[in-house]
Amino acid sequence: MFTVKMEKECGCFKRSGIENCKTFDNRDDAMQEAKEWSEEMNETFCKKHNFTVVEEGNDLIIKVDMN
Ligand SMILES: [Zn+2]
Repeated sequence: MFTVKMEKECGCFKRSGIENCKTFDNRDDAMQEAKEWSEEMNETFCKKHNFTVVEEGNDLIIKVDMN
């Protein structure tokens, strides 16, 4: 089981109404979702935050950095 989740929920994320945690049966699906998810947030959110995917065991954590 692989999990994609946000490290922390910034204000934009909370306003977006996106579900924080998603689980997948295989790593490739999880990684693809994590990448698409972070790209979408980089393009559509406030642009003050930068989202990157980091692997921690079976978890793919989307980290939030200030630009
Ligand atoms: Zn933001």
